[in-house]
Amino acid sequence: MQALVFDGPGRIRYEPQRRDPDLCAPTDAIVEVEVAGLCGSDLHPYLGREPAAAGVVPGHEVVGRVLAVGTEVAERRVGERVLVPFSTSCGRCARCAAGLTARCERGALFGYGPPDDPAAGLDGGQAERLRVPWADASLRLVPAWMDDPTALLCSDNLPTAWEAVARADPRPGRALVVVGLGAVGLCAVAVARAHQVEPVVAIDPVPDRRARAVALGADLALAPEDALAAGVLDGGAPAVVEASGSADGQRLAFRLTEPGGSCSVIAVQTDERFAFSPTEAYDRNLTLRFGRANVLVTLPLVVTALADGRLRSPAEVCVTHPDVALRDGPEAYARFAAREPGLVKVAFRP
Ligand SMILES: [Zn+2]
Ligand SMILES: [Zn+2]
Repeated sequence: MQALVFDGPGRIRYEPQRRDPDLCAPTDAIVEVEVAGLCGSDLHPYLGREPAAAGVVPGHEVVGRVLAVGTEVAERRVGERVLVPFSTSCGRCARCAAGLTARCERGALFGYGPPDDPAAGLDGGQAERLRVPWADASLRLVPAWMDDPTALLCSDNLPTAWEAVARADPRPGRALVVVGLGAVGLCAVAVARAHQVEPVVAIDPVPDRRARAVALGADLALAPEDALAAGVLDGGAPAVVEASGSADGQRLAFRLTEPGGSCSVIAVQTDERFAFSPTEAYDRNLTLRFGRANVLVTLPLVVTALADGRLRSPAEVCVTHPDVALRDGPEAYARFAAREPGLVKVAFRP
């Protein structure tokens, strides 16, 4: 099969003939990939900020068709259109039962490897086919009415944004600030609109991304330096989402959270330290929340909100490059890492 392969920081290779994945356990399924996302999180290994095994297929956002199932898969059937959340969940452990599906005791992230050792880690979805452990618990049917770009966002960015906004304790009629307007931040703007907060304030240094936030319903889109200017957000906002993943973004989000407010940090963290001191946090009585979203728990809320019209799909604004061939993957990674204006999300079509 065709696949992209991570060979180490800065090195993504197109491989035209990689070995197809096999069913390794009776609870596995094989998914034929129809569309696979390139996520901001994929840049952490690519830029050397986070480890991934050399030789692994990257990618953790997938929509496709079930191609084969193991003998113990009871719910999923060959031919079903499914989305694959970014991590697997067994559906049987205490954490899964508690709704902490992203931290399943047997779960793993797609795309970090090591390759050729199915017991130790998983290949990702930037390939023609993908092995999915715990298929019954991990795979979700895509509603027939949902288009591919929206379904792709539902495998990660949109439920992640939903959970980020919920953790910021949005208050109807009060401000909600989103710091960082990559795909998750833009999705958070759309989700905030669905929560009746007012105003929705979007912050990013890149003008193109601010324009996209306005297209998704942001009332105000600001450069970071302008957000701290007197009179703009005096005293801060009660609900702030940090979606940039940078220390500067985290510090700004912290400073923009009003005393007693909630600051929800959703971006993957690669720093050793918080961008603010314990003393500063104590002095503000903030609620701080961190961590990976539980897609399996949040996805039904997102699908319902899309279906009843409360949430407008941000796919048209976010998925800027919806039809990229895998052979163009190395170039797509380089352009994404360079923060090319106009490029927010690439979707590979194997
Ligand atoms: Zn992702
Ligand atoms: Zn589990």
